[in-house]
Amino acid sequence: MGDVHARARVGIVGAGQLARMAQQAAIPLEIDLHVLAEAGDDSAAKVVPATSVGDYRSLEDLRTFAKTCDVLTFDHELPDPAHLQTLAEEGFCLRPGPAAKRFAQDKAYQRAELGAHGFPVPANATVTTAAEVAAFAADHGWPVVLKAPRGGYDGRGVFFVADEIEAAEAVARGPMVAEAHVELVRELAVLVARRPGGEAQAWPVVETVQVAGILRELVVPAPLDANRMEEARALGLRVAESIGVVGVMAVELFDTGSELLVNELACRPHNSGHWTIEGAATSQFANHLRAVLDWPLGVTTQLAEAVVTVNVLGRADGFDPAVGLPAALAVPGVGVHLYGKAARPGRKLGHVTALGDDPQETRARARKAAGALGEGIADG
Ligand code: ADP
Repeated sequence: MGDVHARARVGIVGAGQLARMAQQAAIPLEIDLHVLAEAGDDSAAKVVPATSVGDYRSLEDLRTFAKTCDVLTFDHELPDPAHLQTLAEEGFCLRPGPAAKRFAQDKAYQRAELGAHGFPVPANATVTTAAEVAAFAADHGWPVVLKAPRGGYDGRGVFFVADEIEAAEAVARGPMVAEAHVELVRELAVLVARRPGGEAQAWPVVETVQVAGILRELVVPAPLDANRMEEARALGLRVAESIGVVGVMAVELFDTGSELLVNELACRPHNSGHWTIEGAATSQFANHLRAVLDWPLGVTTQLAEAVVTVNVLGRADGFDPAVGLPAALAVPGVGVHLYGKAARPGRKLGHVTALGDDPQETRARARKAAGALGEGIADG
């Protein structure tokens, strides 16, 4: 890989909806986007001409792909951290680098390191046996939240265990991070873009509404007083600086009413930032590309009083959201995004974003458009 130049070649490992939306941001900047897809019909593979099909689990496939790009970045957290380390040592330009990426790849490491650096995190311990979970519960109470250190997303690696019997089932899967169950007032996300030299921008803080561990709605700005809003933004920026991330990072936070705790980091564009496409002066995808290329960042100002994003998840009956497009587009002031993915229950197939003056009215319009695409949250 040579110096980053005009018509830069940015390689994204993974070809899901994040890479697909990055292509949309790459077009006006004449960035030559490359994606490493698992299959030719992956969401981004359908819209990125420079698609390579390969296995992100294979060091050889990663290396072959990296040779075609100036900068390597990521659509997900799944590549083997040891492979990323090897590529960085071989001189490939990985942004974020392996040290920052590890915070998003390994929950045990993230909890231990952030805690050691004085960041507020839930009480936690690494456990391998039900007896260790019970000992943790003796200090912190039941239920205990057990999390697989690697590979979890959308709540799939998260287990709320009420007693030692349930704990035994969970730890049978392998070592877990045990966490105190936190009473949440709400969940928040702070999105930050950071360049290699440290220049960073945070977007307004978002309330993330989760149902069964899956992010369903974003409300921007989050309903917080000015002090708490600033505290959350500053926390996000401090985490970004502390781990030295390059690109976009999402910090998921728990708001307990009395304090903010760091839950999770994503070192890439994130679902909690989808509202920025219509709702902010610069989208997360544009700023991610600008950050990884060490180009000046765009401002992150919110463009409407209220912005609400609703995810469109696949239904059990296999309803195809594309069928509902005309009805969704008939709702005024709503941006509609479909990801070109086959409908499967619970799968993220698209999202809509509404802009308005009033949070309630804006949410109602977003839900109406999402409902037309088959999303059931308006009923729930
Ligand atoms: P994933 O990596 O699958 O997204 P998270 O760690 O974000 O997993 O957990 C998924 C959801 O589970 C969170 O959004 C939150 O609603 C709930 N959760 C996770 N940890 C805790 C906790 N310690 N206390 C209470 N709820 C939690």
